[in-house]
Amino acid sequence: MLRYAIDGSVKPERHSNYDVVIVGAGIAGLYCALNLSPSLQCCVFAKETIDISNSWLAQGGIAVVTAPDDDPELHFKDTIVAGAGLCDEAAVHTLVDEGPRDIAALIRMNVPFDLNEYGELDRTREGGHHKNRILHAGGDATGRETVKTLAYIASQRDNIIFRDNTFFVDILTDENGVSGLIVKDDDGVYETVATRHLVLCTGGIGQVFESSTNPAVATGDGLAAAIRAGAELRGMEFIQFHPTGLWSPDRESRAFLISESVRGEGGLLKNAQGERFMVGKHELAELAPRDIVARGIYNEMKRTGESHVYIDITHEPEEELAHRFPTIYNECLRRGINIAKDFIPVCPVHHYMMGGIKTDLYARTAVKGLYACGETASTGVHGANRLASNSMLECLVFGRRAAEDINAAFSPAATSGELLPALTARPALETDFKALRARIQHIMSANCFVIRTKEGLETALREMRQIVDMLSAGFNSDKAYDEDLSLAIISVAIIESSLARRESIGAHYRES
Ligand SMILES: Cc1cc2nc3c(=O)[nH]c(=O)nc-3n(C[C@H](O)[C@H](O)[C@H](O)COP(=O)(O)OP(=O)(O)OC[C@H]3O[C@@H](n4cnc5c(N)ncnc54)[C@H](O)[C@@H]3O)c2cc1C
Repeated sequence: MLRYAIDGSVKPERHSNYDVVIVGAGIAGLYCALNLSPSLQCCVFAKETIDISNSWLAQGGIAVVTAPDDDPELHFKDTIVAGAGLCDEAAVHTLVDEGPRDIAALIRMNVPFDLNEYGELDRTREGGHHKNRILHAGGDATGRETVKTLAYIASQRDNIIFRDNTFFVDILTDENGVSGLIVKDDDGVYETVATRHLVLCTGGIGQVFESSTNPAVATGDGLAAAIRAGAELRGMEFIQFHPTGLWSPDRESRAFLISESVRGEGGLLKNAQGERFMVGKHELAELAPRDIVARGIYNEMKRTGESHVYIDITHEPEEELAHRFPTIYNECLRRGINIAKDFIPVCPVHHYMMGGIKTDLYARTAVKGLYACGETASTGVHGANRLASNSMLECLVFGRRAAEDINAAFSPAATSGELLPALTARPALETDFKALRARIQHIMSANCFVIRTKEGLETALREMRQIVDMLSAGFNSDKAYDEDLSLAIISVAIIESSLARRESIGAHYRES
C-alpha cells in the first residue's frame, strides 16, 4: 500500500503551524472547533466552501430525547435494533445519554429548531424510531441551519481560522504519532502544516457510487489518507442506501433526497399501478429500517421491470406540504412534480457510510494524535445500520468529545526536524481521471450495491486492485488524481469487508 499520495517531486512552498487542525467544515468539524479551549489555535480546512458538505444537505433532522414521554433507554433500544446487534453498546449509551446536552448547547447557540403551535420543540418520527424524537430546523433544512449557526459563531472566535478551497492530501507522522499534514490550494501550491492534533471530519464517500445523495466533495479523502497512515477501519461493508432518492431520467452527480420524514408524515410507497408493496414485508411497512425499505423497492423494481417506484403524499394539503417540506416541495416543483398532486418518482441511492476509521469513545484512532469524527469515523454507534437521524447527533457528541480529549491532553509538543519524509519521485501519470472515476463508480454500483454476490464482489476486487496499482505506480499533482486514488483505496476496503462478511446483516445483503 502506498504510504503517501504525494511523491518526491512535491516541494511545498508554504509552511504553517497550528495547535489543532480540523479537516472538514461540516457539523462534526465545526462543533469540535467550538468545543476546543479558546487558548488553542485551530485551523479548519475545507475542500470547497462551507455550504458544500453532507451536513449542509441534511434535511430530516436530529434524533434526540427531549420529550417527557421519551427516554434515552428507548432511543438506545431503537439504535441497537437498527444496528442489527452490531453496535458498540458503550458508544450508543454515550450518544443517547449525552446527546440531549449537546442539543441544549445548540439551542443556546440559537440554532433555530422548529417549534409547534404551543412554542415547544416540534418532534417528528422517522423509520425505526418508536417515539417522535426528530428535531428539525427550517422545515427540512436542519443541516443548513445548524451549519450556518455554528459557522457564524466559529467565525467570531479568535482561536479558529477557516481555510476553505484547500485540499488535504496526506497525514504526516513520526515516532510520536501525527506530526502534521500536507494540503494544497486551488493553484496546486503545496503546504506542510505542523500539528500534533489532527481531527479528520471529512464526511462521506458517496462518489464511490454512480448515484448518491452526497455532494461531489464526498470522495473519502480523509478515510483514504488514514488508511495509508495505518489507522484501523471497522464496518466498511455497512453502507446505507437511501431508499428514496428522487429518480431522474438523467444521470446527476448528486441525487436529490426525498427525506424519510415524508414517509414519517404519512407518505406511502406505491408502484406504477398505485399499489402499496411494503405492507406485509415489515411491521412498520413504509417506516421499516432503511435497508429493508431499500431492498423492498429494489425488488419491486426488479419484479415490475420499472426504473423507479413512487411516494404518494397527495392526501396532505398543498399549503401544509409547502410549509413542512419547503426544500423538497420547491425542488420537485422545479422539475414539474407538484407533490400535493403528483406521485414522487424515487429509487434507492447511496446515502451514508456506517463504517469508517475506527475510534474509541473520545474519537481517538489507532494513530497517536489522529482523531476522526462524524461520518468518516466508526465510533461503533451505527453497527450494521444507522438509525435515521442519528448521524448528526453522532457528529455533535463525538466532535465535542474529541475536543475535550484534546483540551485535557494538550501539550505544545513541538514537531522536531524535517516534516516531509524523503520520498522518491514516481513516473508522471497521465490518464483521463474523469473516465477513471466513472469506471470506479460503475464497478462499485454493479457489484457492491443494495444486493451483493460473491462472484460480483470478487470481480470488483480484481478490477479495483488493478486501478489502485495503476494509480500507485505513478503521480499527478492534479486534484483529480488524489480523488480517484481515494475512491479506489476506499473501494478496495469496502469490497474486502463485504467479501469477508458472508452473512447478510443490517445494510449488508449477500445473495451468495
Ligand atoms: C442529502 C442528505 C440528507 C441527510 N439527512 C440527514 C438527517 O436528516 N439527519 C442526520 O442525522 N443525518 C443526515 N444525513 C447524514 C449527515 O448529514 C452526515 O452524516 C453528517 O452531516 C456528516 O457530517 P460530517 O461533519 O461528518 O461531514 P460533512 O458534513 O460531509 O463535511 C465534510 C467536510 O470535509 C471536507 N473535506 C472532505 N474531503 C476533504 C479534503 N480532501 N480536503 C479538505 N476538506 C475536505 C468537506 O469540504 C466538508 O467541509 C444526510 C446526508 C445527506 C447527504
